[in-house]
Amino acid sequence: MIQRTLILLKPDAVKRGLIGTVITRFEQAGLKVAGMKMVWVDSEFSRKHYEPHVEKGFYSSLEEFITEGPVVAMVVEGVSSIEVVRKIVGSTEPKEALPGTIRGDFAHHSYNYADTNNKAIMNLIHASDAPETAKKEVALWFSDKELHSYKVNNENHTF
Ligand code: ATP
Ligand code: MG
Repeated sequence: MIQRTLILLKPDAVKRGLIGTVITRFEQAGLKVAGMKMVWVDSEFSRKHYEPHVEKGFYSSLEEFITEGPVVAMVVEGVSSIEVVRKIVGSTEPKEALPGTIRGDFAHHSYNYADTNNKAIMNLIHASDAPETAKKEVALWFSDKELHSYKVNNENHTF
């Protein structure tokens, strides 16, 4: 089943010059980019995006992290893309994320370090975690006009 999912390259990925490297991972898996833009999120938007986390103890650190610079937001499309993208991204805690995943290969931060220092886990990427959240997040970040349906060269091989 073909799905769309939201991916954010968080400010740490942008500032470290990893935009191209990270996007390549998704392109290499045969996922199709349906929309993409750069956005500098403010506090109000952060609360909407991270609505399930607003009441949690780490939320203020998370808001500080996601608003500290621009993010690259993208919607990708593919077969079971929500699950596939989470697999490519790896576990939330980079310390535990497996090599071969984006978080495992390009970050190493731990929950323990984050909590001791009142920081959010710096883990480079956000990716929608379920069909309902993907639908909500895609609609929050992109208008219909910003999302495109088109054929890619390798359509016959990847879809
Ligand atoms: P994301 O939603 O960003 O894709 P995720 O789904 O892997 O990440 P969530 O549990 O939704 O993880 O947490 C959202 C983000 O909040 C994490 O990516 C991380 O940056 C931060 N975070 C989560 N738990 C903690 C924590 N205990 N301490 C500090 N930061 C945390
Ligand atoms: Mg999440």
